[in-house]
Amino acid sequence: MATANRPAPRVLTVLSTAQVSPNMRRITLGGPGLADFPAEQQGGYVKLRLPLPDGKIAVRTYTIRAQRADALDIDFALHAETASGHAGPATEWALSVEPGETIEVGGPGPAKPLPAGHDAYLLAGDMTSLPAITVNLAALPADARGHAVIEVMSEDDKLDLPRPAGVTLDYLVAPQPGLQPQGLAEALAAREWPQGAVYAWAACEFSGMKALRSLLRDQRGLGPDSLYISSYWKSGLNEDAHKIAKREDAQGQ
Ligand SMILES: Cc1cc2nc3c(=O)[nH]c(=O)nc-3n(C[C@H](O)[C@H](O)[C@H](O)COP(=O)(O)OP(=O)(O)OC[C@H]3O[C@@H](n4cnc5c(N)ncnc54)[C@H](O)[C@@H]3O)c2cc1C
Repeated sequence: MATANRPAPRVLTVLSTAQVSPNMRRITLGGPGLADFPAEQQGGYVKLRLPLPDGKIAVRTYTIRAQRADALDIDFALHAETASGHAGPATEWALSVEPGETIEVGGPGPAKPLPAGHDAYLLAGDMTSLPAITVNLAALPADARGHAVIEVMSEDDKLDLPRPAGVTLDYLVAPQPGLQPQGLAEALAAREWPQGAVYAWAACEFSGMKALRSLLRDQRGLGPDSLYISSYWKSGLNEDAHKIAKREDAQGQ
């Protein structure tokens, strides 16, 4: 049931599909169901409700990569050939859906933008947070400084993201996402730590998030006002089991 915090899911129509890069597929949603969707939600998230063969619904979380008056772009990291050996329902849907089909969509949930007023910004993530990082980099003021590091599945998944001239961007390639959890933290640690007030934003696979948390919070001392860190998925677990792992991790902090 809809509550004040949780609006009822709306039915959106697939307008188009496109391959952004070999392992990233864009599904553009629109149609009459978008009419009362709040404006300026790029970087926020939606909950896709995917019907399963047994009649149940799988709920999966995805970032609003871009929003126009009549459309939302959602970018899906394709990870069908991973340790699990099969694509989950959201990935399967992104691979097979055709324009004209519909889907129930919950949300939106709030974006986690980079707060103004810091001397340097550090961003880290994998292909699941590439959409959010893209939005965050594009929103930085032209004189912002910082560094971003993103893990992608292949050379051809590296995108040249619009960003201020003072923000450098490095890519790591890991064909099997989630299996090299130290990579992002090691890449950030290898960089000179910026001068002044640092804000760090990181979202990726659970074990990679823990390695980044250890670097940014425990070693570098970034507190809650200077750090957003989130686990977006966990290797070997579907989203429902990942949620439980996240809750247990939060209780242990
Ligand atoms: C706030 C938020 C925003 C997100 N935004 C995006 C987004 O914009 N784009 C995006 O692609 N993802 C995004 N994610 C991550 C996405 O929700 C998960 O990857 C989700 O589990 C995928 O659902 P699925 O049905 O394909 O796989 P599931 O059924 O959840 O899992 C099936 C199997 O696939 C594995 N798996 C799941 N995700 C991955 C992966 N990325 N790489 C390798 N194996 C994986 C699981 O470990 C499991 O073994 C976001 C997550 C959060 C919390």
